[in-house]
Amino acid sequence: MAIHKTKSYLLRKIPLRETSWIATCLTRSYGKIKGVIKGARQEKSKWFGSCELFTYSNLIYFSKTRTNLHLITELSLINSHSRLRNYLESIAHASYFAELVDHFLEEGEAHADIFDLFHAAIGALEDQPMSCHLIARTFEIKLLYALGFFPNLTECLGCRGKVFKVIYFSGRQGGIFCESCYEQSQSGFRISHGCAQAMQFLARTDFQRAVTLKLGQQISQELGTAMRQFLDDRFDKQPKSLHFISQLKQTYPAYV
Ligand SMILES: [Zn+2]
Repeated sequence: MAIHKTKSYLLRKIPLRETSWIATCLTRSYGKIKGVIKGARQEKSKWFGSCELFTYSNLIYFSKTRTNLHLITELSLINSHSRLRNYLESIAHASYFAELVDHFLEEGEAHADIFDLFHAAIGALEDQPMSCHLIARTFEIKLLYALGFFPNLTECLGCRGKVFKVIYFSGRQGGIFCESCYEQSQSGFRISHGCAQAMQFLARTDFQRAVTLKLGQQISQELGTAMRQFLDDRFDKQPKSLHFISQLKQTYPAYV
C-alpha cells in the first residue's frame, strides 16, 4: 500500500455496513478516487464534521493495488463551506456539479484544473447564491472545455464556413451550423450571436470574472437550453440533481 496526501472535496458517500462510508472524492493530485472511511458513521467518531458533502479537506489515503477502493485515514477540514447549506439552490447546484464531475472523470485521472474549477464554483455558490444559473452555465462550459468536449463555435460543422448570418447550435453534433447546412442536417436550434459570444467568453475568462457577466433574459435562456441539450446527449439519463433544481425553479423562479 502506498500513502497519498492531497487536497480533496467530498463528492458522494454511500453507507458501508453500520459504521462506515464509501466516499467518492475529487482530489487535486490524483483525480477522482473512492475510499472507505472506517467508523465514520459511529457516534463520537473522530470524523465528525469532516464527512459532510462538499467539504474541502486535506486527505490522506492508502492506495491498494488489487482494488480501486482505497483506505482513507485522514480528512482534516480546511473549509466546511457551511454557508452553502443556508441556500437550497446552492446545495442543489453543488450536487449537480458533483454529479457532472463524477460522470465525466475516470478514477485516478489527475485533473488539477477541474479540481480548481470545482473549488471556484463551490466558492461562488457560497458567495453569490442568487447567481446560480450563471455559475452553473460557467461551470458546465469550463468543465467541457477542460475535458476537450467544448463545442466548436468558430466554424460551421458542415461547410467549415466562419461567417454566419444566423447560427444553429447542435448539442448532438457538438457545434454550430450555418443556415444552409442546418437545412440539410436538421440538427439543432437557432441561437443568437450574443449567446455564441457568451459561451466563448465563459469558456476563456477567469471563473471569478466570468460569473459577473450580465446576460439578458433571452441569451440566458438560450444558453441554458444549449448546454442542457449538449449535456443530455452525453448522459444515459438526466443527473438526479436536475430534477431537484427544476422543482426549486418552480417554487423560486427568480433565484434559480
Ligand atoms: Zn455551413
